[in-house]
Amino acid sequence: MVGMEHVVTRPREPFTSADGRLEVHQIPSWKDNLIWLVVCKETGEATAVDGPEAAGVLAYCEEHGFRLTQVLNTHTHPDHVGINRDLEKRGLLDEVQVVGPGRKAEAVPGIDRGVDEGDEVMIGTCTGRVLLTEGHIDGHVSYVFDDLLFCGDTLFGAGCGYLFDGPPAKMHASLEKLATLPADTKVCCAHEYTEDNLRFAWTVEPDNEALAQRIREVWALRARGECSVPSTMGEERATNPFLRTSSATLRDRVAHAMERVLESDGDVFAATRALKDRKDYKTLADQDLPVG
Ligand SMILES: [Zn+2]
Repeated sequence: MVGMEHVVTRPREPFTSADGRLEVHQIPSWKDNLIWLVVCKETGEATAVDGPEAAGVLAYCEEHGFRLTQVLNTHTHPDHVGINRDLEKRGLLDEVQVVGPGRKAEAVPGIDRGVDEGDEVMIGTCTGRVLLTEGHIDGHVSYVFDDLLFCGDTLFGAGCGYLFDGPPAKMHASLEKLATLPADTKVCCAHEYTEDNLRFAWTVEPDNEALAQRIREVWALRARGECSVPSTMGEERATNPFLRTSSATLRDRVAHAMERVLESDGDVFAATRALKDRKDYKTLADQDLPVG
């Protein structure tokens, strides 16, 4: 994928989190992947969360004097475990501890430790925990370190991952689990997809003022090549259609579009995902968005 231009040309500035104990760096990779490099301030150890390849991370560590000691994988798609294979090819995987989904350990190159719901993981001296968040693909896990959430392809800015393995009920349960995290939790997802997701969101909840505000903010950021993530869980709860199954407007709009009666929140989630997959919203013009 050499020479492919990334949709983010100006990554987020590094920020500290977890009471200043962790420093988080964002490394764009391939076309729209976001690799999160998390550095323990006390030990200088760096952990990469997912990634299609290793080159960007290795160059970044070299430039900043970080020591890459660990990879945390959320799931087994090639653009998330590609970094493992690349490190292996370079003869560097032995120096790196690989932690990944225990339920799919056989598909995680170089895995040292498979993890599952409730397990603890470390970045340097900082302890995090594992949440099982299946639905995108079997075995998918997310990692929470204090106010940081690394959720792979489960929750995106204003969206959620495709249901490759599903079923919808599993993804819905995973999203509900993530939605219980505190409002200031930083949602560090694995792709910059927010604009596309917001375009869909507006078609199902056009009376949501927080959504209108977010669309304006994200359009401005993206016009400058900046990244729209991490967002916060508070923002996601207020604007992400896949966390807003209780919105009367959203329920009505989705039921109408799908010509179905929707009873439970699970039904609303499944129908909302199916409606987005139909891609009708792609034709919604910018002039029909609240971006003026
Ligand atoms: Zn994926």
